[in-house]
Amino acid sequence: MSKFDKLIGRDKVPIYIKMKPKPSASHLINYQSEIDYKYYICDHCGSKIKILQKKHEMSGGVVCLPATLTGNKDLTLALCNKCLNPALKEFEGVK
Ligand SMILES: [Zn+2]
Repeated sequence: MSKFDKLIGRDKVPIYIKMKPKPSASHLINYQSEIDYKYYICDHCGSKIKILQKKHEMSGGVVCLPATLTGNKDLTLALCNKCLNPALKEFEGVK
């Protein structure tokens, strides 16, 4: 069993949305809330990974692990750069 077993079968990596805070003087009826940024949650450590235009500036991203590695199905994970190796070790330990 690995901590990622429950993620096998998940359709896709969820994307979360952080909204900009509403101005405090929000008696403006037509105030439109705006998206501040979107982010993933790292499946290994739970950190936020902001989705940026410049992918190389992101602290992580989405990786697809092949079934040959997971021993089950292909598995798509959101991982920080620093969590990639520890996450891969999870699977190596299972086999
Ligand atoms: Zn992480």
